[in-house]
Amino acid sequence: MIRVEIAIKHVLESCKTLKEYRINLNKAHGFYLSETVFSPINMPPFRQSAMDGYALNLHKNTNYKLIDEVKAGDSHNPQLKQGDAVRIFTGAAVPDSANAVIMQERVIATGNTITLNGDVKLKDNIRPLGEQVKKEAIALKKGTQLTPAAIGLLTSLGITEVSVYKKPNIAIVVTGNELAKAGADLPYGKIYESNAVMLQSALNSLGYHTISIHKVEDNYHSTSTMLNKVIASNDMVLVSGGISVGDYDFVGKALNELQVEQIFYKVKQKPGKPLFFGKKDNTTIFALPGNPAAALSCFYIYVHLSLQKMSGNTQAELQKSQVSSATNYIKKGDRAQFLKAVIKNNAVTILEGQSSAMLQTFAIANALVYVSEETERISVGDTVEVIHLPK
Ligand code: AMP
Ligand code: MG
Repeated sequence: MIRVEIAIKHVLESCKTLKEYRINLNKAHGFYLSETVFSPINMPPFRQSAMDGYALNLHKNTNYKLIDEVKAGDSHNPQLKQGDAVRIFTGAAVPDSANAVIMQERVIATGNTITLNGDVKLKDNIRPLGEQVKKEAIALKKGTQLTPAAIGLLTSLGITEVSVYKKPNIAIVVTGNELAKAGADLPYGKIYESNAVMLQSALNSLGYHTISIHKVEDNYHSTSTMLNKVIASNDMVLVSGGISVGDYDFVGKALNELQVEQIFYKVKQKPGKPLFFGKKDNTTIFALPGNPAAALSCFYIYVHLSLQKMSGNTQAELQKSQVSSATNYIKKGDRAQFLKAVIKNNAVTILEGQSSAMLQTFAIANALVYVSEETERISVGDTVEVIHLPK
């Protein structure tokens, strides 16, 4: 049994980025760049007006002669002599011979003459050529995650495709003879299976969509056959249940027989003690405890980090912060704990109902309070470490 901190370190060290490939930007949300992208153009590509107003060739006088108009998208380049003005609009190309733009609110226009009614200086309201990014300069560095803003930026440079790290394809393998399908009858002794769709939804919410779900009976043969198959064809396998020490828990034995390298099994934590983490060839395998809250805790702590590393996030880490506790809590036992909690107004309330079999508390939590092995109690007002849960 290893400490939480060591388990996290193993996950971060063992998970490597997947291969690179080219992707169209309209499908690239959430991916990490596997290349530094250089700008093929200056942005803006011409001197651009930042205002609706008048482009001027400055002189001492406040009166200017209006000689032309340039709208956004126009391609002409009128010649202004000193004292000339051109009507101009936001986003339009400022004529080469203009050296300032004055906003229209600061001008009185009468026929072909305008009179300035405010100060204007050289270069005012002109976005210089390449102000944001120069041609051949770095637009975004390798390792940047493609957020909507990043996708917008690259598209504004005329780019349609980039190289990114692949996101893992993931198999979820659900074990348990007691599991019935939601929507069907519930015979005595059975419970509805919920881990598969819960994990699928957690994956989807983090941007992972290539997921297959498989169910196996609690017997060695079907467990081993299925695991062999999915390990060969996926980047990540998440097993639910069957990893404890009961007579009908066959996952550990099957993984061992399939020569999956065990990186760790059992973490000194609550919930989620019987967590298994291993690798075979290029496939990462987590066997999560079957208890739903334990499975989801382990997902948010370990699986999420692993997914990020595989997808190219070199800075993969838990979303932690320090918050003041609004609850007294006495820890039982010597394991570290992850407690379902709600953060509001910079204070965290530890919720009732922490059992690893219960999801109702998790359903309203927005954070997990981390209670280290060494911590024995939390008092109101103590600063505690919280892990923010994604929505
Ligand atoms: P296990 O880890 O297989 O020993 O399961 C631990 C507990 O979690 C048992 O009470 C199971 O019935 C429950 N459980 C296991 N798998 C699931 C599942 N997929 N959905 C809901 N509960 C489950
Ligand atoms: Mg089971």
